[in-house]
Amino acid sequence: CGIVGYIGQKDSKEILLKGLEKLEYRGYDSAGIAVMNENGVHVFKEKGRIATLREEVDPTVEASVGIGHTRWATHGVPSKVNAHPHQANTGRFTIVHNGVIENYAQLKEEYLQHVELKSDTDTEIVVQVLEQFVNQGLEVEAAFRKTLSVLKGSYAIALLDEQNKETIFVAKNKSPLLVGLGDNFNVVASDAMAMLQVTDQYIELMDKEIVIVTKESVTIKNLAGETINRDPYTAELDA
Ligand code: GLU
Repeated sequence: CGIVGYIGQKDSKEILLKGLEKLEYRGYDSAGIAVMNENGVHVFKEKGRIATLREEVDPTVEASVGIGHTRWATHGVPSKVNAHPHQANTGRFTIVHNGVIENYAQLKEEYLQHVELKSDTDTEIVVQVLEQFVNQGLEVEAAFRKTLSVLKGSYAIALLDEQNKETIFVAKNKSPLLVGLGDNFNVVASDAMAMLQVTDQYIELMDKEIVIVTKESVTIKNLAGETINRDPYTAELDA
């Protein structure tokens, strides 16, 4: 299972699909991508191979921001509905997640009693809770940090906000996730191997950090909202 993301100037679809293919070795049962352009967010997902997902992706949709996911099901059977990306009910927020949310049942009970869920995944709970916090008046970044602070378990997360087309929000705890730096683009990947074709400069993330990724900038913060500085390293292909 794995995560990829791209924000820059090129069309993201092929970069995401190629990245997911590079992560196939980790094993998966479904795959999906979400790309965002001036018309909104477009989600394509399928049970089965990335080759099957490829056929599902509309080649006429062009978008320079996107996130992708290969799923290894832990909560909910492998199916198109349970495949990531997942969206909250208004469709504003779109998430991909690797890992396990251990307290998803309590979160559902506490925050989502009146929310109709579309999938059987622990992941959908995360994006629905985030939307509740935004509905209660929090700014998206603060809502994201608050959401992460109530989660128990492991996660690598990439998140799109349809009302902010310049940003991918990222977070990690006990699941691998890196941010890759490019010239007027940046990427996200579970493993540098997924994105080595576009950059070899990576920043390692620590647990309970969030990252605000735009095409020109990468801002790492802790859950208290304090900015953290960290230098990139050069990733090399294993011989
Ligand atoms: N727990 C999530 C699910 O079952 C994510 C699994 C994964 O890491 O791919 O959908």
